Amino acid sequence: MEYIILIVVLAVLILGVGGTMLLRPRGGRAVRRGRAGADLKAGTGTGASTESGGGTATAAPPRPSAPPAERPTAPTVPEPTLEKPPPSAGRMVRLRARLARSQSGFGSALLSLLSRDRLDDDTWDEIEEVLITADVGVTPARQIVSDLKTRVKVEGTRTPDEVRAMLRAELLGQVETEASRALRTQRHEGRPAVLLVVGVNGTGKTTTAGKLARSLVGDGETVVLGAADTFRAAAADQLQTWGDRVGAQVVRSEKEGADPASVAFEAVSQGIESEADVVLIDTAGRLHTKTGLMDELGKVKRVIEKRTSVDEVLLVLDATTGQNGLRQARVFAEVVDVSGIVLTKLDGTAKGGIVIAVQRELGVPVKLVGLGEGPDDLAPFEPAAFIDAILGE
Ligand code: GDP
Repeated sequence: MEYIILIVVLAVLILGVGGTMLLRPRGGRAVRRGRAGADLKAGTGTGASTESGGGTATAAPPRPSAPPAERPTAPTVPEPTLEKPPPSAGRMVRLRARLARSQSGFGSALLSLLSRDRLDDDTWDEIEEVLITADVGVTPARQIVSDLKTRVKVEGTRTPDEVRAMLRAELLGQVETEASRALRTQRHEGRPAVLLVVGVNGTGKTTTAGKLARSLVGDGETVVLGAADTFRAAAADQLQTWGDRVGAQVVRSEKEGADPASVAFEAVSQGIESEADVVLIDTAGRLHTKTGLMDELGKVKRVIEKRTSVDEVLLVLDATTGQNGLRQARVFAEVVDVSGIVLTKLDGTAKGGIVIAVQRELGVPVKLVGLGEGPDDLAPFEPAAFIDAILGE
């Protein structure tokens, strides 16, 4: 009998120890990396609840009374591997083939017309038509034709190389601007640079904010993303995904239709607190009424300016939308001081002439171009690489 009791006691002891071992957390760390946004999401306005810096939120510390080994722990979320995006320099050249594929029709049509033996009025009309079809705009198209006529007269002979060089110089002259295309992304007065991304929904605004955050991370900057497009349910999730992939904090609101200005304010506060280099804010692009838009964007800007200045307002424009897109761009330019244009979807249209039209129309340089749906398909705009792609060089 005593033996039986002893065996039962031993069995209970062995099972008990084994069970305790099963409850012990593996790795001993319940840390969720790169999910600062998820915590902020639970209560926008509580940015202080996250650690400053790398966007790391830790689980609550264990209570001293609870023996750590026996406390059931929250399942450990595997640490996502952060991607290392390539730097922004040289991207336009890398993506030139894509640009050449979409734009070369326009370039080769111009080259072949200019290479005709006789450049009569009909040919010049055709040249103007090609330019207008490529969305260069009527006035710039006429200007280009008149410049080309003068160049042909002055230069006389027209070998294929000369025609190409002449057209290249003319188009480059139309695309180049005095204004700098560099993005203002440097910290100043101990605060991050603040960039607003504005534009009509569907133009690729949120995608551009995500791609740009990635490209800035690739250039070694730390970025906080603000999901102030609170009217489109998916926009915050979309931005969160972009941020998570490269370790950028995302400030967002749980509530659909929340005040975009309060999200923007919180993002900037978070950026200041975590000493980020850049705060990038995606705004709502509802073009309901001009006054509505003005009120909304005006408020976002005013609220940010309570903490720091806005360094860039980037207007996103879909290159495939032509004149309609230009009209919308004009409305935005009337309500905010646009400092740069991002021309998206240039890979999907042969109407690259819109670069000339929009710069002329708004008096603002194209700073970035979208050349595909891939995460690194956003490039700083380089006029020479652009014209060379059009001319198939
Ligand atoms: P938003 O409503 O302005 O925020 O638009 P989204 O960012 O959601 O983008 C709308 C669609 O455009 C998405 O399917 C994007 O993948 C696509 N898009 C954005 N930029 C580019 C680009 O440069 N090229 C191409 N081909 N598609 C793009």
